[in-house]
Amino acid sequence: MDILAILVNMAVITYENIRHFKSIEELSHTDHITALYNYRYFYKRLTEEVFRAKRFLRKLALVIFDIDDFKVYNDTFGHQAGDQLLQQLGELLIRTVRSIDVVCRYGGEEFCVIMPESDQEECLKFMERLRKNIMNFAFKDERLKQEHNITVSLGGAIYPYDARSVDRLIYCADMGLLKAKSAGKNRSVMYQEKLEPVAQ
Ligand code: GH3
Ligand code: MG
Ligand code: MG
Repeated sequence: MDILAILVNMAVITYENIRHFKSIEELSHTDHITALYNYRYFYKRLTEEVFRAKRFLRKLALVIFDIDDFKVYNDTFGHQAGDQLLQQLGELLIRTVRSIDVVCRYGGEEFCVIMPESDQEECLKFMERLRKNIMNFAFKDERLKQEHNITVSLGGAIYPYDARSVDRLIYCADMGLLKAKSAGKNRSVMYQEKLEPVAQ
């Protein structure tokens, strides 16, 4: 009976250790305000998805977007209201994407979506749907008991048409975003300069 008790004890400790390890691993991938994946996970996952797309000759879309005039939002309603909005935006994003898409917080008020198996047309359609969903969403400000609206600008790029490496794909989506901002914000722009058809 003593030996059995020791073995059971050891099994319980091992199980607890695995559980702790898993939750630490999850935390290291998670952004604390939005509960979305963080930049560290994003880069790792995008590298894996580009590798998979290359290997199986598939397409892959990357969307990067940024909240318009978020500094003004913070300056007007306070940083806590800003944090609350980021958290609600994270939830809205999860509800808007497909189950195979990966949503991450890139940094500050910038987010990205990895979309396996998506081409230019699907990417642009998604960006517009997301943009409109966000524009029409009433973000709740609990402290001021108000509802606020925001807009976002989005940039999209496609592997392998626009870029064939992870860094280049991020760069291209970012250039789309930059164009969306300079064209007046609250819009979606696909990266334009096409590469030659890829020979794999
Ligand atoms: P633009 O339309 O050109 O993107 O203007 P912007 O004001 O959104 O951009 P800017 O880069 O000037 O400011 C970004 C703002 O985002 C400023 C910063 O305080 C805010 N921000 C970044 N991270 C957080 C955060 O975690 N919480 C809050 N509340 N604000 C954040
Ligand atoms: Mg911004
Ligand atoms: Mg920004």
